[in-house]
Amino acid sequence: MMNKLHRIMAIGAHPDDVEFSMGGTISKLRSSGHEVMIIDITDGEPTPHGSKEIRNNESMEAAKVLGVERKTLHFQNRFLFDDIEVRKSVAAEIRLFRPDIIFAHYPLDAHPDHQSASQLSMAARFYGKLSYIDLPGERYFAPRIFYFFSVHLRISPQPDFCLDISNEIDIKINSLLSYKSQFHEINKSIRGGQEMGKEERVTDFIKTQNAYWGNRIGTAFAEPFYSPEILGFSNLNSILL
Ligand SMILES: [Zn+2]
Repeated sequence: MMNKLHRIMAIGAHPDDVEFSMGGTISKLRSSGHEVMIIDITDGEPTPHGSKEIRNNESMEAAKVLGVERKTLHFQNRFLFDDIEVRKSVAAEIRLFRPDIIFAHYPLDAHPDHQSASQLSMAARFYGKLSYIDLPGERYFAPRIFYFFSVHLRISPQPDFCLDISNEIDIKINSLLSYKSQFHEINKSIRGGQEMGKEERVTDFIKTQNAYWGNRIGTAFAEPFYSPEILGFSNLNSILL
Protein backbone atom coordinates (compact mmCIF):
# COMPACT_ATOMS: atom_id res chain seq x y z
CA MET A 1 0.00 0.00 0.00
CA MET A 2 1.28 3.46 -0.89
CA ASN A 3 1.80 5.77 2.04
CA LYS A 4 -0.23 8.97 1.96
CA LEU A 5 1.86 11.94 0.85
CA HIS A 6 1.69 15.01 3.05
CA ARG A 7 2.43 18.67 2.76
CA ILE A 8 4.75 19.70 5.55
CA MET A 9 5.78 23.16 6.73
CA ALA A 10 8.61 23.73 9.21
CA ILE A 11 8.64 27.22 10.72
CA GLY A 12 11.89 28.48 12.29
CA ALA A 13 12.73 31.83 13.84
CA HIS A 14 16.08 31.99 12.04
CA PRO A 15 17.61 30.29 9.00
CA ASP A 16 19.38 27.18 10.45
CA ASP A 17 16.93 26.52 13.34
CA VAL A 18 14.97 23.96 11.34
CA GLU A 19 18.13 22.25 10.06
CA PHE A 20 19.59 22.04 13.58
CA SER A 21 16.47 20.65 15.18
CA MET A 22 15.03 18.46 12.44
CA GLY A 23 17.28 18.50 9.36
CA GLY A 24 17.35 14.70 9.27
CA THR A 25 13.57 14.48 9.48
CA ILE A 26 13.20 17.08 6.71
CA SER A 27 15.51 15.09 4.45
CA LYS A 28 13.71 11.83 5.27
CA LEU A 29 10.26 13.32 4.62
CA ARG A 30 11.39 14.82 1.34
CA SER A 31 13.02 11.64 0.06
CA SER A 32 9.80 9.76 0.97
CA GLY A 33 7.98 12.01 -1.49
CA HIS A 34 6.33 14.51 0.87
CA GLU A 35 6.24 18.18 -0.10
CA VAL A 36 8.31 20.15 2.40
CA MET A 37 8.58 23.91 2.85
CA ILE A 38 10.85 25.66 5.35
CA ILE A 39 9.75 29.11 6.52
CA ASP A 40 12.27 31.34 8.32
CA ILE A 41 10.41 34.16 10.03
CA THR A 42 13.49 36.37 10.24
CA ASP A 43 16.43 36.65 7.87
CA GLY A 44 18.74 35.83 10.79
CA GLU A 45 20.60 39.13 10.76
CA PRO A 46 22.36 40.84 12.41
CA THR A 47 24.91 38.26 13.60
CA PRO A 48 28.63 38.78 14.36
CA HIS A 49 29.92 37.15 11.16
CA GLY A 50 26.99 37.35 8.74
CA SER A 51 25.21 39.70 6.37
CA LYS A 52 21.78 39.49 4.73
CA GLU A 53 23.34 38.36 1.47
CA ILE A 54 25.64 35.80 3.08
CA ARG A 55 22.80 34.36 5.18
CA ASN A 56 20.50 34.16 2.17
CA ASN A 57 23.11 32.31 0.10
CA GLU A 58 23.83 29.92 2.97
CA SER A 59 20.19 29.13 3.72
CA MET A 60 19.38 28.56 0.05
CA GLU A 61 22.37 26.23 -0.18
CA ALA A 62 21.13 24.32 2.89
CA ALA A 63 17.64 23.98 1.35
CA LYS A 64 19.25 22.62 -1.81
CA VAL A 65 21.17 20.02 0.24
CA LEU A 66 17.87 18.91 1.83
CA GLY A 67 16.01 19.14 -1.48
CA VAL A 68 13.22 21.39 -0.15
CA GLU A 69 11.61 24.75 -0.80
CA ARG A 70 12.39 27.64 1.53
CA LYS A 71 10.96 31.08 2.08
CA THR A 72 12.50 33.70 4.34
CA LEU A 73 10.20 36.40 5.67
CA HIS A 74 11.49 39.90 6.28
CA PHE A 75 11.35 40.18 10.08
CA GLN A 76 14.46 41.03 12.10
CA ASN A 77 16.57 38.70 14.21
CA ARG A 78 16.52 39.46 17.97
CA PHE A 79 13.35 41.55 17.78
CA LEU A 80 10.72 38.97 16.94
CA PHE A 81 7.44 39.38 18.78
CA ASP A 82 4.17 37.51 18.60
CA ASP A 83 2.16 40.36 17.11
CA ILE A 84 -0.62 40.76 14.56
CA GLU A 85 1.65 41.58 11.62
CA VAL A 86 3.84 38.50 12.05
CA ARG A 87 0.88 36.22 12.77
CA LYS A 88 -0.76 37.36 9.56
CA SER A 89 2.44 36.94 7.53
CA VAL A 90 2.89 33.36 8.73
CA ALA A 91 -0.84 32.62 8.40
CA ALA A 92 -0.65 33.81 4.78
CA GLU A 93 2.09 31.25 4.11
CA ILE A 94 0.01 28.53 5.80
CA ARG A 95 -3.03 29.38 3.67
CA LEU A 96 -1.01 29.37 0.48
CA PHE A 97 0.93 26.15 1.17
CA ARG A 98 -1.86 24.35 3.08
CA PRO A 99 0.33 22.03 5.15
CA ASP A 100 -1.05 18.83 6.70
CA ILE A 101 1.59 19.11 9.41
CA ILE A 102 3.29 22.19 10.84
CA PHE A 103 6.55 21.90 12.76
CA ALA A 104 7.33 24.80 15.11
CA HIS A 105 9.70 25.72 17.95
CA TYR A 106 9.13 24.17 21.37
CA PRO A 107 7.92 27.10 23.53
CA LEU A 108 10.42 26.69 26.37
CA ASP A 109 13.66 28.18 25.07
CA ALA A 110 16.26 30.71 26.20
CA HIS A 111 16.14 32.60 22.91
CA PRO A 112 13.24 35.08 23.01
CA ASP A 113 12.87 34.83 19.21
CA HIS A 114 12.30 31.07 19.54
CA GLN A 115 9.67 31.65 22.24
CA SER A 116 7.93 34.19 20.01
CA ALA A 117 8.16 31.93 16.97
CA SER A 118 6.55 29.09 18.93
CA GLN A 119 3.62 31.19 20.10
CA LEU A 120 3.02 32.92 16.82
CA SER A 121 3.22 29.68 14.81
CA MET A 122 0.39 28.27 16.92
CA ALA A 123 -1.54 31.54 16.54
CA ALA A 124 -0.92 31.66 12.77
CA ARG A 125 -2.22 28.10 12.45
CA PHE A 126 -5.47 29.37 14.01
CA TYR A 127 -5.55 32.58 11.98
CA GLY A 128 -5.39 30.45 8.85
CA LYS A 129 -9.01 29.45 9.32
CA LEU A 130 -10.41 32.89 10.08
CA SER A 131 -12.92 34.58 7.81
CA TYR A 132 -13.21 38.36 7.41
CA ILE A 133 -9.45 38.85 7.59
CA ASP A 134 -7.19 40.27 4.86
CA LEU A 135 -5.22 37.13 4.09
CA PRO A 136 -4.57 35.51 0.71
CA GLY A 137 -5.91 32.09 -0.26
CA GLU A 138 -8.79 30.13 1.21
CA ARG A 139 -9.50 29.52 4.90
CA TYR A 140 -7.40 26.64 6.16
CA PHE A 141 -6.59 24.93 9.46
CA ALA A 142 -3.50 22.70 9.52
CA PRO A 143 -4.63 19.48 11.24
CA ARG A 144 -1.35 18.79 13.05
CA ILE A 145 1.32 20.80 14.79
CA PHE A 146 4.47 19.34 16.33
CA TYR A 147 7.24 21.11 18.22
CA PHE A 148 10.94 20.60 17.51
CA PHE A 149 13.58 21.26 20.15
CA SER A 150 16.08 24.07 19.69
CA VAL A 151 19.38 24.19 21.49
CA HIS A 152 19.46 27.42 23.49
CA LEU A 153 18.40 26.01 26.82
CA ARG A 154 20.01 23.25 28.87
CA ILE A 155 16.85 21.30 29.48
CA SER A 156 16.27 17.57 29.15
CA PRO A 157 13.42 17.53 26.62
CA GLN A 158 10.53 15.11 27.17
CA PRO A 159 9.59 14.29 23.58
CA ASP A 160 6.44 12.41 22.61
CA PHE A 161 8.16 10.64 19.76
CA CYS A 162 11.53 10.41 18.03
CA LEU A 163 12.12 9.85 14.34
CA ASP A 164 14.93 7.57 13.21
CA ILE A 165 17.40 9.60 11.12
CA SER A 166 20.26 7.09 10.99
CA ASN A 167 20.39 7.26 7.19
CA GLU A 168 20.00 11.05 7.11
CA ILE A 169 22.59 12.16 9.68
CA ASP A 170 25.26 13.00 7.08
CA ILE A 171 22.89 15.05 4.90
CA LYS A 172 21.72 16.89 8.03
CA ILE A 173 25.31 17.77 8.90
CA ASN A 174 26.01 18.80 5.30
CA SER A 175 23.01 21.13 5.34
CA LEU A 176 24.30 22.74 8.55
CA LEU A 177 27.80 23.14 7.16
CA SER A 178 26.26 25.42 4.51
CA TYR A 179 26.02 28.04 7.28
CA LYS A 180 29.70 28.92 7.16
CA SER A 181 29.22 32.33 8.81
CA GLN A 182 27.55 30.78 11.88
CA PHE A 183 28.31 28.41 14.76
CA HIS A 184 31.40 30.21 16.06
CA GLU A 185 30.29 29.56 19.62
CA ILE A 186 29.22 25.96 19.36
CA ASN A 187 30.61 23.30 21.68
CA LYS A 188 34.13 24.53 22.38
CA SER A 189 34.93 21.48 24.46
CA ILE A 190 38.25 19.81 23.84
CA ARG A 191 38.04 16.13 23.05
CA GLY A 192 40.99 13.81 23.49
CA GLY A 193 43.37 16.69 24.15
CA GLN A 194 42.88 18.08 20.64
CA GLU A 195 40.91 21.22 19.94
CA MET A 196 38.47 20.69 17.07
CA GLY A 197 37.91 22.92 14.04
CA LYS A 198 34.48 24.46 13.53
CA GLU A 199 33.24 21.82 11.08
CA GLU A 200 34.33 19.05 13.44
CA ARG A 201 32.59 20.78 16.33
CA VAL A 202 29.29 21.04 14.43
CA THR A 203 29.55 17.40 13.39
CA ASP A 204 30.44 16.28 16.90
CA PHE A 205 27.65 18.33 18.46
CA ILE A 206 24.95 17.02 16.12
CA LYS A 207 26.09 13.42 16.35
CA THR A 208 26.23 13.58 20.16
CA GLN A 209 22.71 15.05 20.41
CA ASN A 210 21.09 12.79 17.86
CA ALA A 211 22.91 9.65 19.07
CA TYR A 212 21.35 10.24 22.50
CA TRP A 213 17.83 10.24 21.05
CA GLY A 214 18.71 7.35 18.75
CA ASN A 215 19.80 5.39 21.79
CA ARG A 216 16.42 6.04 23.41
CA ILE A 217 14.60 4.35 20.50
CA GLY A 218 17.20 1.75 19.56
CA THR A 219 18.63 3.37 16.42
CA ALA A 220 21.95 5.07 15.67
CA PHE A 221 20.50 8.60 15.40
CA ALA A 222 17.09 10.21 15.94
CA GLU A 223 15.39 13.59 16.31
CA PRO A 224 12.91 14.31 19.16
CA PHE A 225 9.47 15.95 18.83
CA TYR A 226 6.67 17.05 21.13
CA SER A 227 2.98 16.97 20.28
CA PRO A 228 0.77 19.43 22.16
CA GLU A 229 -2.23 17.36 21.01
CA ILE A 230 -2.94 13.64 21.42
CA LEU A 231 -1.47 11.58 18.59
CA GLY A 232 -3.71 9.04 16.91
CA PHE A 233 -2.46 6.00 15.02
CA SER A 234 -4.41 3.99 12.46
CA ASN A 235 -2.07 1.03 13.00
CA LEU A 236 1.23 0.19 14.71
CA ASN A 237 3.20 -0.65 11.55
CA SER A 238 5.75 2.14 11.82
CA ILE A 239 6.49 1.85 15.52
CA LEU A 240 10.01 0.67 16.24
CA LEU A 241 10.00 -2.09 18.82
ZN1 LIG B 1 17.37 30.42 16.18
